[in-house]
Amino acid sequence: MSKIYVTGLGPGAADQMTIKAKHVLEHCHVIIGYTVYIDLIRDEFPDKIYLSTPMRKEADRCRMAFEEAARGQDVAMVCSGDAGIYGMAGLICEIGKDYPDIGIEVVPGITAASGGAAVLGAPLMHDFAVISLSDLLTPWEKIERRLEAAAEADFVICLYNPSSRKRADYLQKACDIVLKYKKENTVCGIVRNIGREGENCEILSLKNLREKKVDMFTTVFIGNSATMELNGRMVTPRGYRDV
Ligand code: SAH
Repeated sequence: MSKIYVTGLGPGAADQMTIKAKHVLEHCHVIIGYTVYIDLIRDEFPDKIYLSTPMRKEADRCRMAFEEAARGQDVAMVCSGDAGIYGMAGLICEIGKDYPDIGIEVVPGITAASGGAAVLGAPLMHDFAVISLSDLLTPWEKIERRLEAAAEADFVICLYNPSSRKRADYLQKACDIVLKYKKENTVCGIVRNIGREGENCEILSLKNLREKKVDMFTTVFIGNSATMELNGRMVTPRGYRDV
């Protein structure tokens, strides 16, 4: 039975890919993914057949993977970060209903939250909530409710998809909701191009985060009430007791 390996590549750098993901890419002759991710690995695995569809054609990309696998070859469907976190693993499982003879294996990777947290210091040491600001697949009202709930409960909040050209003011809108519950001086961090060329980060207050322009290659971290800046690092203490 041939198989689709839904594989998380990690945030970017080859050395942030798991050994298992690397073995999968070595093993599979056909690699399918969004062009940006394929460009990250093409040099390292030059002898593969690469197939792609444009962004927002995810279902077509999945069907393409099943059609290739049905011809009797193992296929790697690649995503950035972790395949099961805003990645392709869910859709592959859903579409896989129509292809019971094809195996599916999900190969996890380092997600932007943990990759970015390592760049900033240690912001995710305590309970945290991950929220995507993309309203392509989730109604904005639901995103707002989740922001409200996470902020009210004093979670550290990690925001994926914080902005795009069409959604330039979404981060500002999200900060306005969070500011109802968290103080203006709450320690926040942004990390751009995690594990990729031009990686950079900044630590700033929630008030200043509200004014910040970020792009879709950025992950945003909003601290909890105990998060601190220590020697240029964003640190959330492990607990609330004195150490
Ligand atoms: N499956 C991916 C997430 C895809 S959603 C993962 O697990 O990381 C896309 C969003 O993830 C981006 O808008 C950004 O917020 C975040 N992201 C993914 N890779 C990133 C990187 N290298 N640097 C900064 N943010 C990244």
